[in-house]
Amino acid sequence: MSSKENYELKLLSKLVEFDTNSIEKNYVECSKFIAKELERIDLETEVIDPREKGESKVTIPNIVSRINVGAEKTVAIAVHYDVVPAEGKWKYPPFKLTVENGKAYGRGASDDKGSIAALIAAIKEINLKKLKYNVVMLVTAEEEVGGKLGLGYTLKNLKEKIDYAIILDASPLFVSVGASGIIWGKILVKGRGGHAGYPFKADNPIMKASKIILKLEKYREKIAKKKSKIKAPPGTPSRNLYPRFTVTMVKAWEKENVIPSTCELRFDRRLIPEERKEEVVKELEQEINKIGNELNVEAEFTVLSKGNGYATDPNLSFVKEFKGVVEKVTGEKIPLCGELGGNDGHFFAKRKIPVICFGNIRPSNNIHTVNEHVNLSDLKLVKNVIINFLQLKTL
Ligand SMILES: [Zn+2]
Repeated sequence: MSSKENYELKLLSKLVEFDTNSIEKNYVECSKFIAKELERIDLETEVIDPREKGESKVTIPNIVSRINVGAEKTVAIAVHYDVVPAEGKWKYPPFKLTVENGKAYGRGASDDKGSIAALIAAIKEINLKKLKYNVVMLVTAEEEVGGKLGLGYTLKNLKEKIDYAIILDASPLFVSVGASGIIWGKILVKGRGGHAGYPFKADNPIMKASKIILKLEKYREKIAKKKSKIKAPPGTPSRNLYPRFTVTMVKAWEKENVIPSTCELRFDRRLIPEERKEEVVKELEQEINKIGNELNVEAEFTVLSKGNGYATDPNLSFVKEFKGVVEKVTGEKIPLCGELGGNDGHFFAKRKIPVICFGNIRPSNNIHTVNEHVNLSDLKLVKNVIINFLQLKTL
């Protein structure tokens, strides 16, 4: 292993040791460590903390570090240092990086501390005189809980204008040019509770809810026919992104001999980038009302949360350039796809900043579960992509 590779790995190893699922203590310690590392390679850092304006009770340090070479355009590169909890039985201790067979195991090794290590290593190796863009690195917290006080707050308080954005928190199998929107909702099905020995006196809401679920299956099939202009990632049973609807929770639970008075359904509706959340809420309202009328069932619909997806124009030269770099570094054709899930890109998209996502997260990396790991070759890949993108002429 060369000493350059050792640097990324050493950095990752230290980053993994901070359990950054815990805000109170480790956010501060981990962010200080990152800032120090950036200062060690002669970069200045700024901390943007929502606590300063009273938007958070606790300190949430988001680090901004800039390389200004007087270029015409500025690229933001975003990564996050918070992680999800390390529950369950791990093969190796989750907060101590273990390297085995070309893989490094640890909570956050892939999501997203591997990308922090790869990014800092890239900046360290890069010839700053050859930079094509001014660079603003955004190393933020709170991504795993929605990013409002992380990337969201940081962008709101950033001084400079950003022309393009890259989020390193995604797959190396495609360059992501969009993400799905999400609506979560509740359907409360009302019946009449009673004693199971006298079912004729009650009106079982579980049976009503079952009928609603079957009707919703037709709705699911109908909306799946709508296709986005944006391609779906490899492994999706459709060439392009499409709207999805899933009943994810059913609740009616009292006692074996009790017929409950209500049955609650919860669902997840994924929006393609072309759909707007307000219109889809209306569509759901109409659909659920229609089903209720057809079945003569009282079903009360509530929206629990809603967010739009977004799409970045795949024909932008910035997008094509990045795709070209990934293809040259990997020697493979790389598609431009939208994500089936949501991601932090909407914070940039809302500000009309073209954003793409890439990273080391393969479907096999076990992120958000036990034995999370990153392939060492992917750390190198992300590093080389960043180096070559920021100084195009070296390819
Ligand atoms: Zn992540």
